[in-house]
Amino acid sequence: MSQVPRFFFTEIARISYQKGMHKSFFNNLQEVIRKFRIQEATGLNLSDAVVVIQDLINLQAINLMERKKFLETKKRALFLPHCSRKFMDSRCKAVFDENLPSYVCAHCSSDCLVNSADCVARRKGYDVYVLPGGSCVTKILGRSKYEGIVGVACGEEIKVSGEALLDAGVSRQAIPLIKNGCSNTVFNMETLIKTL
Ligand code: SF4
Ligand code: SF4
Repeated sequence: MSQVPRFFFTEIARISYQKGMHKSFFNNLQEVIRKFRIQEATGLNLSDAVVVIQDLINLQAINLMERKKFLETKKRALFLPHCSRKFMDSRCKAVFDENLPSYVCAHCSSDCLVNSADCVARRKGYDVYVLPGGSCVTKILGRSKYEGIVGVACGEEIKVSGEALLDAGVSRQAIPLIKNGCSNTVFNMETLIKTL
């Protein structure tokens, strides 16, 4: 998805939700995908592209609708996916703390995305969690009463975790991975910094 211009999802979400057009827009999504040549850019087949684009537009719409409330929150946390660590094996020196539950980055690699995100977010006063799965979200919310959460994950994980955050009444901002696959995944640092 990194080949699709970033403003695409934000603009489509903003315009279609503002005008109450998102349902009819979704009905015409196949045509839009062909017009914007999303299949060529992503390598996805048409039905997968429809699902992915719908999820991303919904996600951007939630981000826009929640933004004002999120900016009013004081106690915040950042949830990062463990799949964006530079290493998924013992070369990653992060220790998993079951009490949190989260990996705690040991800052072993300066070119690790999780390391960079962890440092930026902590400087801004966020608690940071590096999660091996969405099941940790409910435990963290039960343990610490956060008002706002920024979550980075793939679309599917954002959907599942988003429901837990909604149930807990936490204001949320989601950042989708631009390269999925459960290892060596990538998110956009610039987007993260702007969102934080
Ligand atoms: S910088 Fe942190 S997350 Fe990245 S590989 Fe090292 S310990 Fe793991
Ligand atoms: S790609 Fe999604 S499901 Fe896979 S490890 Fe990363 S966040 Fe979890």
